[in-house]
Amino acid sequence: METRYIFVTGGVVSSLGKGIISSSIARLLLSRGFNVTIQKFDPYINIDPGTLNPYEHGECYVTVDGHEADLDLGHYERFTNIKTTRANNITTGRVYQSVIDKERRGDYLGKTVQIIPHITDEIKRDVKLLGSKGDYDFVITEIGGTVGDIESLPFLEAVRQLRWELGNKCICVHLTYVPYIRAAKELKTKPTQHSVKQLQQVGIQPDILVLRTEHDIPQAMRRKVAQFCNVSPDAVIQSIDAPTIYEVPLMMHDQHLDEIILDKTATPYEGEPDLTKWNHFLNKLNAATDEVRIGLVGKYVALQDAYKSIDEALFQAATYNDRKLRITYINSEKLTDANVDEMLKEQDGIIVAPGFGQRGTEGKYVALKWCREHDIPTFGICLGMQCMVIEWARNVLGMADANSVEMDPKTQYNVIDLMEEQKSITNMGGTMRLGAYACHLTDGTIVAKAYGKLNIEERHRHRFEFNDDYRAQFESSGMKCVGENPETHLVEVVEVPKLRWYVGTQYHPEYSSTVLSPHPLFMDFIRAAINFKGSKAQK
Ligand code: GLN
Repeated sequence: METRYIFVTGGVVSSLGKGIISSSIARLLLSRGFNVTIQKFDPYINIDPGTLNPYEHGECYVTVDGHEADLDLGHYERFTNIKTTRANNITTGRVYQSVIDKERRGDYLGKTVQIIPHITDEIKRDVKLLGSKGDYDFVITEIGGTVGDIESLPFLEAVRQLRWELGNKCICVHLTYVPYIRAAKELKTKPTQHSVKQLQQVGIQPDILVLRTEHDIPQAMRRKVAQFCNVSPDAVIQSIDAPTIYEVPLMMHDQHLDEIILDKTATPYEGEPDLTKWNHFLNKLNAATDEVRIGLVGKYVALQDAYKSIDEALFQAATYNDRKLRITYINSEKLTDANVDEMLKEQDGIIVAPGFGQRGTEGKYVALKWCREHDIPTFGICLGMQCMVIEWARNVLGMADANSVEMDPKTQYNVIDLMEEQKSITNMGGTMRLGAYACHLTDGTIVAKAYGKLNIEERHRHRFEFNDDYRAQFESSGMKCVGENPETHLVEVVEVPKLRWYVGTQYHPEYSSTVLSPHPLFMDFIRAAINFKGSKAQK
């Protein structure tokens, strides 16, 4: 089948959940048996979000091929089980970099290089690159930002041209916001009308409108929007606040969004999407009443999306274990010996989060000492694992100033050290140890049992590593190195067998947990937390 292109744009305000709508469309089309891929275009100038502070755009997601990506790619993977790559996330910076490289090589043969056609051609090339491989029936492209932003104009111009060139093989789904004015007790569609006008001004007529709303939008109001915006009334769909984002595909299907897309792109189809497994997950979610309480210790706790993939991996694992997840974010900067008991004692399991830099690490050591001494299930991820190693060195091995050279380059006990290949690197962007690497696990360990196999692959994002010079001391004192890279022998997993569940991974298992394939290590951690809760109750 000739590839169809679906663009998802947004209007009125940001944060409406374009990523969730795009992922839901992908889920529905996949469940109908189509081959689908999904990509994100971000209008900012950064080459990738890898160097951005989480306070800017939330968590940085990492693809298997080592691209530091927008967190929406995490949604795409969690909804679709598709493994995204570098090709699925383009920024203005990358578009310009590529055009400037071509200009320097002389590829433009003396022409003046301009936004139109050179930048827009580059964007169009990127849109079609995924489709040109012939593997996909649908390429869904989410355009970051909001219609009306100066920086998204070249992307919208590329969409306009593609719609013209591809005819009904290309459609635009526009997501807008319908605010509720409480004093007037009224929903207001004017911002939507204006946002569609703005799209029309750049030559794009949306085919489908998805209206984000906190209240049910009456049919008459939807018809009015249709009339004002040149959209057929059945193609005005509401996306009302949902208890979880995973309900959204069903809500979209109930309003026939998938059928409307198939009709508008002249795609033959029959029957209904097979959402059996998806519904199984939602049924478990809705049936769960007992809680499992997880404390997440990190420094970015004030920001909703900073630990997005960990939150979702925990949520999926809790749901499959028939529990309601209750996460408490614990600010590591505020943790002290004096308050740690109060801050952690209600929890059934503790996650020590990834991160960068000194700030907040001392609180992580306080938390880890408490976790060890209280034998509560504890999961350290990336910096969290490194902190487990440092805390052990300081408090079990008596190496008082043990540290990572990231925090203290002069430490006497550099139990976490800079990787050899990192020593000559001066450029910060895209130069960490990134993407999926093989790891061999030791038979009989917690991790090996959790995975049910010994050879795994997981994604990484770090510069520092366990210093092998200390391995023997850790092993003989009870912290075991139970996973290593088969080629470089870098230590990837540590655990303390004499504790209930005390595991640290240098890699990020959270990136590969999806709704239909929850991650085995998160599943096992949640099981341990549930058992621990049970044992507390019996006391
Ligand atoms: N800052 C640590 C490193 O670079 C850990 C990174 C992380 O937690 N992702 O090695």
